Amino acid sequence: MVIVVSGPGGVGKGTIAQSLVDSMDDLWLSKSWTTRSIRAGESPDSYVFVTREQFESSIESGKFLEWAEFEGNLYGTPLPEAPEDMHILLEIDVQGATAVIEKSIPALLIFVDAPSVEDQARRLRGRGDPEAEVEKRILKGELERERAKELGAHIIINDDLEHTIQEIRTLIESQANDH
Ligand code: 5GP
Repeated sequence: MVIVVSGPGGVGKGTIAQSLVDSMDDLWLSKSWTTRSIRAGESPDSYVFVTREQFESSIESGKFLEWAEFEGNLYGTPLPEAPEDMHILLEIDVQGATAVIEKSIPALLIFVDAPSVEDQARRLRGRGDPEAEVEKRILKGELERERAKELGAHIIINDDLEHTIQEIRTLIESQANDH
């Protein structure tokens, strides 16, 4: 099963995705590629950081399941190389989720949202995003929230990290049992 976790910037998707794979043996986390520069304090493992040339030649050679451009940077999900018996977790934006659906890949869509826009802005500022970035990510979040609803994603409000992770784990387990 493919599980897509999306959500506005700063909502804690990365932490959630990492804790899910750490606590579920049958979950394989796909690592996206990006041409964005690494942020101060960001883990070098959070993406495969590449140049635009490397990214573009990989598009040419058909490496990506989907890719998208945001704020002048390219982001893409490589075709998964997960073992047969593992579920694949993609932490991508709603545009990417849409691309997965358009490829007729059955997927469990989860949209993790912040309790409020104010809370999201506080988290973005807290991780050091400049003010212009904060505004763009809030705007992107608003568009994504609407689109996620249209796609029928499960919307989960991250008001308590541990509770959110447990809620998602339960959702994955119940859907996996149905497959
Ligand atoms: P950030 O720069 O904050 O790490 O990511 C910017 C946006 O790109 C976020 O909404 C994030 O979910 C999205 N993103 C990260 N990886 C991928 C990917 O592989 N594909 C797509 N479509 N979006 C991605």
